[in-house]
This record gives sequence, structure tokens and C-alpha cells, in this order.
Amino acid sequence: VAEIRHAQVAVVGAGPAGIAAAVCAAEAGAEVVLLDEAPRPGGQIWRHRRRQEVKGSARLWLERFERSGAKLLPGAEVVVAERDRLLAQLSASEQTLEVRADSLILATGARERFLPFPGWTLPNVIGVGAAQSLLKSGASFAGKRVVLAGSGPLLLPAAAALRSGGARVVFVAEQASPTAVNRFARNLLRRPGKLAEAALYRARFLSAPYRTGVWIESAGGDSRVREVTLRGASRSWTFPCDVLCCGFGLVPNVELAYLLGCVVAGDRVPVDERQETSLSGVFCAGEMTGVGGVERALVEGEIAGLSAAGREREARRLLPARARLHAFARSLEETFALRGELARLPGPETIVCRCEDVPLSRIDPSWSRRQAKLITRAGMGPCQGRVCGPALEFLFGRGTDSARPPLRPAPLSALRDLEDR
Ligand SMILES: Cc1cc2nc3c(=O)[nH]c(=O)nc-3n(C[C@H](O)[C@H](O)[C@H](O)COP(=O)(O)OP(=O)(O)OC[C@H]3O[C@@H](n4cnc5c(N)ncnc54)[C@H](O)[C@@H]3O)c2cc1C
Repeated sequence: VAEIRHAQVAVVGAGPAGIAAAVCAAEAGAEVVLLDEAPRPGGQIWRHRRRQEVKGSARLWLERFERSGAKLLPGAEVVVAERDRLLAQLSASEQTLEVRADSLILATGARERFLPFPGWTLPNVIGVGAAQSLLKSGASFAGKRVVLAGSGPLLLPAAAALRSGGARVVFVAEQASPTAVNRFARNLLRRPGKLAEAALYRARFLSAPYRTGVWIESAGGDSRVREVTLRGASRSWTFPCDVLCCGFGLVPNVELAYLLGCVVAGDRVPVDERQETSLSGVFCAGEMTGVGGVERALVEGEIAGLSAAGREREARRLLPARARLHAFARSLEETFALRGELARLPGPETIVCRCEDVPLSRIDPSWSRRQAKLITRAGMGPCQGRVCGPALEFLFGRGTDSARPPLRPAPLSALRDLEDR
């Protein structure tokens, strides 16, 4: 271990939830460290290259974080978590950092869910979030014909950002039914801010159709994707395209909670009114407790930070706001639930684990995730099951209930540090 740090509160994940948690705990007088694998704070939504790019509430929170006294440890990827210490590998030096803290706040967010279908491994088939990240890191989609297919509100900002980046958005396919989406839109009348946000995104790609009740069937191509076939209730469409962006919602990153031994229910970490998990002194906030967007992540982060610093009364004042945002998250979940047809898209030869090249035909539906891993190596590759795991869960209905250290591929030195106890 290159360095050992002590703190009263250690927060993992510098997205909105982790930043809010670190700010509130530090402002309450706690000594706080905030670790993130990324080089800069911000998480998925506030990711930026230069400070000038950050606007609105993101800017206010980042400035407040800088004033709070909390210490940011960027480029620190937590690969091992035990109740009394975290081990992180440092991207800058390939050395290991150990953090010991009285309280832990987990805020590792969520990742995109990918589902396998014929052609999904072709070059230029990417996630909608990946497209946004590429745009933010300066990639150009200018002049490219782009089809977006999948589900959920993230299709809108992704299509808008691609269009603003010069892409020719050809079609946006939302798999949720028109009835469900219309009901959701009507309910948004009670949240005019959200409705206006959606309308503004839609206005930026008005020349492309946005159809509900339409889902991806297959992608075709050679050295890259060349065409995509979409299906609706009564017809299908095939479009030539240069890039296909898919997004089937988000999957909470609950692996650290598993490592620590917290109860995990389905794909999320249950917490109490203080955002405390089943383990005393281990708190959790943001997408890890259920996908619900940035406002919910912020409120949960504030509650977790205040609770970890012993400011329960202040934390309790935020509970009504949390309840409202949880209700909104539930309506998102119901509206954009994935349809059964998507589980029947892959054929026997469709790759389901792209790291290890495992086709669907090699996996017996009766196997557990562990059996599939041991027999076919599905989930053993560099992504460590982060992509194929949720996909197999959707196809076969069997999830995972554990994680093993190191969480990500780690240098041997990190494993040696794990043994040195
Ligand atoms: C790909 C993607 C695109 C999105 N696009 C939009 C959008 O356009 N508009 C919108 O409103 N919402 C979007 N969202 C949702 C939005 O990002 C979330 O609602 C919000 O960011 C949740 O905040 P969070 O703090 O819970 O998680 P995040 O913002 O995801 O932050 C989690 C942080 O944890 C860090 N982390 C994870 N694991 C480790 C580890 N082991 N060690 C160290 N650090 C770790 C990550 O680097 C990340 O910085 C998107 C989400 C994703 C996944």
C-alpha cells in the first residue's frame, strides 16, 4: 500500500449523490474523503473536461464542494471494500491507496443496460450513454446517420446531443407502449419543469420520428453497422445507418455493497430513513438505491452525508422531498419496464458475453449465473459480468447475489495488498 488515509467519513463515487453527501458531511464538521475512479468529480451527468462547461446547479454543487473542506481523491478506483478499509488503485501511479473511515457512504451510481440482439456486437453499435460520453470527450458524429433504440428518458437528451453535434438522427425507437408513455406524459403535467425539459430535448431533433411501442430487432453490417431493423406492433422498418445507439435503462452498481456484506434486494441496496444500509455505519445514496435521476441522487446524498455526520434532525427535514422523488422514480420504472419480446431477440448464435465470445446456445437456461460462468466463462472477462450479467438476468430471470474482490481487473500489487493483512 503506497498510502493509508484516515477519515471520519469516506464517500465512494463523486457523482451528484457522492458530492452532496461529501459536502453535507464536511459542512457538518466531519473529516471527509471522496474517492472516484474518474479524473474529475461529476459522475455520469456532470462529467466535464473544463470547468467552464459546467452550468447551473452542477456548478453550484461543485463550487460548494470545493469550499466544504472535503478532500477529493480522483483517479482512485475502489477494487476491494471491507468494513474497516477500502483499497483503491490509483490510475496515475498504479499504486494502491488504503482508506480507513468510521463511516462509509457508497454512491457508485449506475451503468447502462445492454441487451443482446443479432448484430449488437458490430462496431458502431454503442450505448446511448456512451454516445453522450463520447460527445463530451470531443468525438464527432457530424454527418453520421444515427438510429437510437431502447427505453427511458435518456433517449431524449442523447438524441438531442447527437443532433446538436451534427449527427443526422434518423429514428428514435422507444420500446414502451404508447399507452404507458402517454400516461407518464400526462402525469408530468404535475411536474412542469420535467415536461419543459423533455419538450426542449425533443425540439432539438424534431426532424426525426420518435415512436413509442417500437423496438430493435437486429442490426446488420460488415466491418461496422450498416443497417438496423426495428419492429412495432404491426410492421417493421429497416434503415441504413452509420451508428446505432441502444439504451435499455440503467443498472445500479451494487457490487461494493455486496463486497461489504450489505443486504441487496434485486438490483438495489435497501436503505432506511437515514440512507443507512443493513450494515451500521455504511450508507448508500443515489442510483445504487434505485434508478431515479439526479434530483433524487442529490437529496439522498444530502441525507446520507448529514446522517453520517450525526445531523439526523436536518436529514429528516429532507424526507418529504425524498418521498416525492421516490414516487417519480416508481412511475419511471413502471412506464419504461422492458417488454418480453426483447428477451426473445437473440438467436442461438448471438453472442451474449462479448468479452469471452459466448453465444446464447452455449448457455443452458436452467444454469445459475455461477454455473454459466464456470462452464462457459460468461462473465469472466474484463467487464467482470457488468455487461453480460444484467443481460443474462433479463433473458433467464436469474440474477447474482455476490461479488468477489477485486471488483475490476487490478494489478498484482493490489492483490498482494489484499493478502497483507
Ligand atoms: C451512461 C449514463 C448517461 C446518463 N445520461 C443522463 C442524461 O443525459 N440526463 C440525465 O438527467 N441523467 C442522465 N443519467 C442519469 C444520471 O447520471 C444519474 O441520475 C445521476 O448521475 C446519478 O448520480 P449518482 O451520484 O447516483 O451516480 P453517478 O453520477 O453515476 O456517479 C457515480 C460515480 O461513482 C464512481 N464510481 C463507480 N464505481 C466506482 C469505484 N469502484 N471506485 C471509485 N469510483 C467509482 C463513478 O466514476 C461515478 O463518478 C445518465 C446515467 C448514465 C449511467
